[in-house]
Amino acid sequence: MPRLPIGTKTPELAMNNTTRETLADVRLPRITVPPHPAKPDLTPAAKEALKERIAALLRQRDAVLVAHYYTDGDLQDLAEATGGCVADSLEMARFAAAHPAQTLVVAGVRFMGETSKILNNEKQVLMPAPEATCSLDEGCPIGLFSDFCDRHPDHTVVVYANTSAEVKARSHWVVTSGIALAVVRHLAEKGEKILWGPDQHLGRYVQRLTGVEMLLWPGCCVVHEEFKAAGLARMRALHPQAAVLVHPESPADVVALADVVGSTTALIQAVRNLPNREFIVATDAGIFNKMRQVAPDKILLDAPTAGEGGTCESCAHCPWMEMNSLETLARSLATGSGAIEVAPELAARARIPIQRMLDFAATLKK
Ligand code: SF4
Repeated sequence: MPRLPIGTKTPELAMNNTTRETLADVRLPRITVPPHPAKPDLTPAAKEALKERIAALLRQRDAVLVAHYYTDGDLQDLAEATGGCVADSLEMARFAAAHPAQTLVVAGVRFMGETSKILNNEKQVLMPAPEATCSLDEGCPIGLFSDFCDRHPDHTVVVYANTSAEVKARSHWVVTSGIALAVVRHLAEKGEKILWGPDQHLGRYVQRLTGVEMLLWPGCCVVHEEFKAAGLARMRALHPQAAVLVHPESPADVVALADVVGSTTALIQAVRNLPNREFIVATDAGIFNKMRQVAPDKILLDAPTAGEGGTCESCAHCPWMEMNSLETLARSLATGSGAIEVAPELAARARIPIQRMLDFAATLKK
């Protein structure tokens, strides 16, 4: 049996290898990755009681919970059970913007809460873990990035959603991994030169598929960068019937081994829709919660990382996403802690490139 039926292999893998690569020559700040937070050992009854308390607090505050696919499975389930949503960052932003609740509770990392605040400046935005950052955001400080943009004034600045409000405000377009290819193709058709930040691997992937030369900022995701091609190739040989699913924040040699490359949403759809029984998944392990829900009979295997068998520095789970828990959520709702503020003037400037993405996404859906 072929590994995938003919036609299901993503056409996006037909990469253009002739594109010249231009990586920005900048020295990024050193990023301190926190240890994984300790998990409290709750009994099932205590966990259920905590979930009920959170649901009551959400009602009291006229609040809705929006969670990312990489957060803890309990949080994801609770978001859906209480009328909120579990999604990728684009869908989180869309959902929060359209929802009538007065308080938006964002379980994810800081740029996600900031994006919700930017789009809903009149609403309260709470985060269970406002200190949770992201290596891409940390690796793209506004001063350094703005200088780089200033040196290339003839380029359209396109940034990934994983950036600060200040970096978004300095940009022309914000994109997520789900829409990046379409936006870059659209800009290239108009003859625009593109400066891309901050994820070099996603930028390189987009560049190879579109054939569009871009100036790449050299940031990376500390979770996805740990997936290794040699280990993945060995694993694929051991599981020849499995489909290999890879998020494009992974290094190019890992992406090259994929059957499907895509955003979190696209990878979940692949598990649901492909006929394979086994999947090797190269993205944050938090995604398994939704994948198991949509395809309970399928077998999901972690793609190997550099830390395989060693210390848990590379266990395919984002330590910042992991700072979100039922406990931190309950505390935030009970006390109003973790409120996200973005100065209205900054929010107004940052909203322009985000709204441009949302409007563009709406045209793609028609
Ligand atoms: S998984 Fe990577 S890109 Fe996502 S929040 Fe964590 S560090 Fe950032």
